[in-house]
Amino acid sequence: MPDRVDLHIHTNHSDGRQSPRDVVDRACQLGLKAIAITDHDSVSGYTEAARYARGKDIEVIPGIELSSALADDDIHILGYLIRPDNKRLAETVKRFRRIRSERGKKMVKRLARLGIEIDYEEVLAAADGAPLGRPHVAEVLAAHGVVDSYNQAFEKYLALNGPVYIAKAKLSPAEAIDLIHHANGVAVMAHPKLTDRDEVIPELVAAGLDGLEIYHPSHTRAARKRYRQMAQRYNLICTGGSDSHNRSGRYGEIGEEQVPYKYLEQLKARWARNEQTSI
Ligand code: AMP
Ligand code: ZN
Ligand code: FE
Ligand code: FE
Repeated sequence: MPDRVDLHIHTNHSDGRQSPRDVVDRACQLGLKAIAITDHDSVSGYTEAARYARGKDIEVIPGIELSSALADDDIHILGYLIRPDNKRLAETVKRFRRIRSERGKKMVKRLARLGIEIDYEEVLAAADGAPLGRPHVAEVLAAHGVVDSYNQAFEKYLALNGPVYIAKAKLSPAEAIDLIHHANGVAVMAHPKLTDRDEVIPELVAAGLDGLEIYHPSHTRAARKRYRQMAQRYNLICTGGSDSHNRSGRYGEIGEEQVPYKYLEQLKARWARNEQTSI
């Protein structure tokens, strides 16, 4: 089998249901050459995975999936090969954590107004130390039988335009790209087809975007072809991954997307090019 990588994986340091150690073990079992841990607005899962992977036959790449937005639309920007201890990045991660906790409390209040009583403490327990997200609220709703499933919690309450949807105070995509560059990283637009705002790609390129995520479980063959062509047109690198959260019914399993090792090499080459031009 040719060498493969998975450059989009979540852990329980954001809304994934797998520990960094489990991710590394699974990736080794599958024979992946490299993985990137890309938790939402958090880097501690990467740190733990990298420490655990020392001496093992796998490379762990530092990553983050930053929440940004244009108006109400979520635009996720992946940052690769960032310095996890960069001061501005660390401050932003801290700020996001606070904002997410406040938002969690607001979501619980909104639910109460709809006659659904859940405790904020339970949501906190579901997050188990990770920055709070809608998935943790969805889990509690499913556990209480308020909805039949995690996905239904989004359909009925939590998705954009749902009665309990609360936007996060976020960065603009240009600010997210800038922050990633400031932390010496490479900025890639996550799952562009899922985001479905192709018209903003030229603006993001002008803001310094480095790449597009081509391989993603939500991408059809046609989407992959389209974004590969766009990457070529705008001189962007291509990346990909499973977006694994280890949650049944939602996206892939680790290694599910067949991402060739050469994508990681191109990512590193882009990183080296950015380093040179920023001197
Ligand atoms: P948050 O960052 O708190 O807004 O939560 C966003 C996360 O919720 C995403 O990264 C997904 O993991 C999950 N998510 C978003 N939309 C849906 C949906 N419609 N169904 C299931 N999970 C979703
Ligand atoms: Zn997620
Ligand atoms: Fe995402
Ligand atoms: Fe993701």
